[in-house]
Amino acid sequence: EQKRKGPGSVGVFNEGIYTALRHEQSLRDGLRYAIEKNEFTLHYQPIMYADGKRMWAAEALLRWNFKGDNIPPDVFIPLAERTGLIHDIGNWVLHRACIDAAQWQFDDSVAVSVNVSVSQLMDDSFIRSLDRVLEGSGLSPQQLHLEITESVFAENTEHVLKQIQAIKARHIQISIDDFGTGFSSLGQLHSLQFDHIKIDRAFVQKLEEGSDTIVRATLMIANEFHCLTVAEGIETAEDAVRLRAMGVNCLQGFYYARPMPARELLAWYTDN
Ligand code: C2E
Ligand code: MG
Ligand code: MG
Ligand code: MG
Repeated sequence: EQKRKGPGSVGVFNEGIYTALRHEQSLRDGLRYAIEKNEFTLHYQPIMYADGKRMWAAEALLRWNFKGDNIPPDVFIPLAERTGLIHDIGNWVLHRACIDAAQWQFDDSVAVSVNVSVSQLMDDSFIRSLDRVLEGSGLSPQQLHLEITESVFAENTEHVLKQIQAIKARHIQISIDDFGTGFSSLGQLHSLQFDHIKIDRAFVQKLEEGSDTIVRATLMIANEFHCLTVAEGIETAEDAVRLRAMGVNCLQGFYYARPMPARELLAWYTDN
């Protein structure tokens, strides 16, 4: 514990805040150059059909190595959103993921699933970026899924609808990510025509404490809207058995595989 006295003394409490702010400032500065310094990589996590044997898709998850530390996306993605860097970063992710997926040697039906921030989706240039990336990579649009969180429903519905329609017109599929944690209404779900619903891992991990009701309700909604369902955060064989029995279509979690670099994915796939 530091207790400096005299001019410039800020006290223990303020010093903590000061350090945190310095840290955030340093991350913010670092983030600006992360692309050109090659500090980003994508890891991929398999999403399995409920039988647990076949891969349905692989989710691209961004990794940032900054000054030797791995900064979690839950820390730097919100920062990228606040600073507007998310557009360049999001484009980098989309580009990298489509190039990787175009080179995969799996069954052609295996898709790559890319997380898209709401502000990225709402940007007018987003659809142009999509077209450019698809053309540049040669990836079939049917092999691309975009994951959008439920917070999209807090936005101007008209513009969301326009963006979603442009995406769907390209035969790209859309997943609602972290379903159940946000504020979507049934009416919005209906008008927005999503393809898949990803049930947040918070519910998967609390099945015993009553969230099986939420999972069942979600499955009914998905069924009504002809959406596929994916359960996130499958960590044990027991989780897998239970969600499969409930009728979830696809399963994702550490039980099957952790996110891994692109080159390891093929080896993992052939070994499994
Ligand atoms: P998400 O899209 O819901 O991704 C799933 C997160 O759960 C990933 O965390 C993944 O590593 C983790 N996960 C998967 N299976 C399990 C499991 O069995 N148990 C547990 N405890 N966790 C599991 P990660 O990679 O740290 O990413 C966190 C969030 O950051 C993502 O949540 C997503 O919202 C965001 N994110 C990551 N990459 C990107 C990106 O390229 N663009 C955008 N916009 N957001 C991203
Ligand atoms: Mg996701
Ligand atoms: Mg999720
Ligand atoms: Mg999440």
